[in-house]
Amino acid sequence: MASADAIIRRARDHGRATLDEPDAKALLAESGLDVPAGIRVARGDDLAGAAAGLSPPFAVKLISPDAVHKSDLGMVRVGVPDLAAADALVVELDGVARAGGLRVDGFLIEEMAPAGRELVIGGIDDPRFGPVIMTGLGGIFVEVFQDVAFRVCPIDRQDAADMLDELRAAPLLAGARGQRPVSRESVIAALLKIGGDGGLLMRFSGEIVELDINPLIVSPTGAVAVDARIVLKERLTLA
Ligand code: ADP
Ligand code: MG
Repeated sequence: MASADAIIRRARDHGRATLDEPDAKALLAESGLDVPAGIRVARGDDLAGAAAGLSPPFAVKLISPDAVHKSDLGMVRVGVPDLAAADALVVELDGVARAGGLRVDGFLIEEMAPAGRELVIGGIDDPRFGPVIMTGLGGIFVEVFQDVAFRVCPIDRQDAADMLDELRAAPLLAGARGQRPVSRESVIAALLKIGGDGGLLMRFSGEIVELDINPLIVSPTGAVAVDARIVLKERLTLA
C-alpha cells in the first residue's frame, strides 16, 4: 500500500489539489478505514486480468475532475453482475462522458459494500480552530434537515459517541421500525481514524483542507467508505 505521504506527493507532482476517488480512498485505507476492493481501469484494458481478484457484483464509476457528483451525471452504476457487464459499461460511460465534454481519467471498478445506513463524515481545516470533523446520516438528513454534529479535533471515543447521540436521526442507527441495528462501534472507529489523535485530519493538518466521505455505508457488521473526496491546501509555486 502506498504511504499517505507518497499519495499526496504524487498528486502535488501532477499539479492536482483535489485527490481523485481512488487516491482519496487509498489515503483512507492507509488510515485504517475499510474501503471497497477496487481497481482503476481505462477503456480497452483487459478487465478479466486486471479485476480477476474482485468479487461481483460491482460498482462502476467514472473518475473525472469534472464529475464531483457522479450519479447526477449518470456516471455511477451499482449492482453490475459480472466483468463482461462492467466492461460494456466502461465502453458506454466512456463514450457518454466524452460526448458530454467530461475529462476521463479512467473508471473505478469496485466491489459492492454490504447494505446498510448511509452516513457522511466531513472534515475541514478551519483557519481559527484547526481540523474540525462533522458527521450525520446521508441524504435528506444532512441536506434537508441539516442534522449534523461537529467537533474540533482531536476527538476521543466519548466525543465520537456523543456526536452520534446528538443526531436527531440517531434512532435509525439503533434499528428503528424493525430494522437491524447497524454497527455503532464501526462508526465510532471510523470517526476516530479521521478525527482522533493521530487520525488523518490531525496528521495532515495544514495539508488537507477538506475531506468528504459520502457515503460511509454502515451495516450490522462494519462501515465502508464508498465515496471520498479530499482537497489539499493550494500551494503557491514561485517561478
Ligand atoms: P456520487 O456521490 O459522486 O454521485 P458515489 O460514489 O457516492 O457517487 O455513488 C453514488 C451512490 O451509489 C452511493 O451513495 C451509494 O449508495 C452507491 N454506491 C456507490 N459505490 C458503491 C459501492 N462500492 N457499494 C455500494 N454502494 C455503492
Ligand atoms: Mg457520493
